[in-house]
Amino acid sequence: MKIAVPSDVEKIIEKLTSSGYKAYAVGGCVRDSIMGKTPHDWDICTSARPEEILASLDTHNIIESGLKHGTVTVKVDGELYEITTFRSEGEYKDNRRPESVEFITSLKEDLSRRDFTVNAMAYNSFDGLCDYFNGTEDIENKIIRCVGDPDKRFSEDALRIMRALRFASKLGFEIEENTKAALRRNARLLKNISVERIAAELVQILDGEYAEQILLDYTDVLGVFIPEILPMVGLEQRNPHHSFDVWTHTVYVIVNSPHGRIMRLSALLHDIAKPRCFTVDERGTGHFHGHPEVGAKMAGKILRRLHFDNDTINKASTLIRYHDQRPKLEAKYVRRLIAKTGAENFLPLLDLKRADAKGQNPVTVPDKLKYIDELEKMFTELTADGSEFNIKTLKLTGSDLMDLGVSQGREIGYWLKEMLDRVIEGKIQNDKKALLNEVNRLIEEKKRNEM
Ligand code: ATP
Ligand code: MG
Repeated sequence: MKIAVPSDVEKIIEKLTSSGYKAYAVGGCVRDSIMGKTPHDWDICTSARPEEILASLDTHNIIESGLKHGTVTVKVDGELYEITTFRSEGEYKDNRRPESVEFITSLKEDLSRRDFTVNAMAYNSFDGLCDYFNGTEDIENKIIRCVGDPDKRFSEDALRIMRALRFASKLGFEIEENTKAALRRNARLLKNISVERIAAELVQILDGEYAEQILLDYTDVLGVFIPEILPMVGLEQRNPHHSFDVWTHTVYVIVNSPHGRIMRLSALLHDIAKPRCFTVDERGTGHFHGHPEVGAKMAGKILRRLHFDNDTINKASTLIRYHDQRPKLEAKYVRRLIAKTGAENFLPLLDLKRADAKGQNPVTVPDKLKYIDELEKMFTELTADGSEFNIKTLKLTGSDLMDLGVSQGREIGYWLKEMLDRVIEGKIQNDKKALLNEVNRLIEEKKRNEM
């Protein structure tokens, strides 16, 4: 097997080799190359110790930051390459990281500490492919399999549980039976892993081309850190709009959403409150009154717990809050929704609504999609001149109102909202003079009525 290694990587390997060390491209780049994909980065492993790596390479290009972990990062032609000394790992006590690492000279031993057979291969042009754990065969058969005893490997570092799902979701591989059983047995250990690392893997799992099967098969694993999804599983909706239970529907919505963190998280959580809001009427039809609002709050809480950034939390909560709104196709109603979501969230909202429709009763899908297309057309027309209407773009401000003698914050808020409503409904132009006149008239009128 010959792998096309970028010339800069080749040069690093040659330098280390000519200094008397072993050096290879390793891990994801070898896996991706064998699969015919272009690797997004190239990692290098070597028998040289960090100080020996430094002595062999041009030290101008060294990035200091990784050194204390024994990783040397070099920058060549603007690309970063991580060079890591062969290592064996000591005992693991916290399901996260080894108590100690030891530098070693055996490539095979270094590869044996890696997570999955498909990730445990190394390559250089001198020795060719080094595949001690049958990674090539597992790639051919599309299998994710732990290197060594899966129970031991998952309990050493429980993040590997998420990595297994991530690779399965991205590559479309099956998780091998023993690996799968051990993964489930050890899933609770994810509680010992930092939420940031879990969240990063979750986003990639949701984003994978083959996410559907993984999300349906491993809901229990996701339930370890988002227990709120568990009551969705098997919850029949008893409603003509729906053909699937809440979780199956959710999975369809996820895979029908555009890629990306915010869309996929919004899809994951859009119906999170359905179990809480479920009622059945006297005719036996299921309803979920209030689930978007309750869901937006629950989603905010879950995303905060997983330490997502505020922008992600705010956008996802907004999309969830309004995902079920179906305004009449008239300017004032559509404008009102745009004012609530903000123009920047409106097209993502329509994306979520489309995905949501596709996960519902197939008979109803074409009409729902047609309606959403109409909404999009109206949005384009209504915002064509940049005149999106919300409190920020309203040509009347709090200080204008104070000049008119309105002094209390609550009253200012009331009048701004009143005037915004009128602009949205087309009763008045978004024009400062017109707004001032009108609000002045209304204030006077109110005063007279109160006398
Ligand atoms: P990607 O293509 O997404 O970067 P990758 O396989 O390169 O996937 P990285 O997280 O970049 O994944 O890790 C590089 C390599 O380090 C892996 O291929 C694997 O050999 C090893 N590795 C990474 N994380 C672990 C872990 N938690 N346990 C064991 N080995 C790991
Ligand atoms: Mg990588």
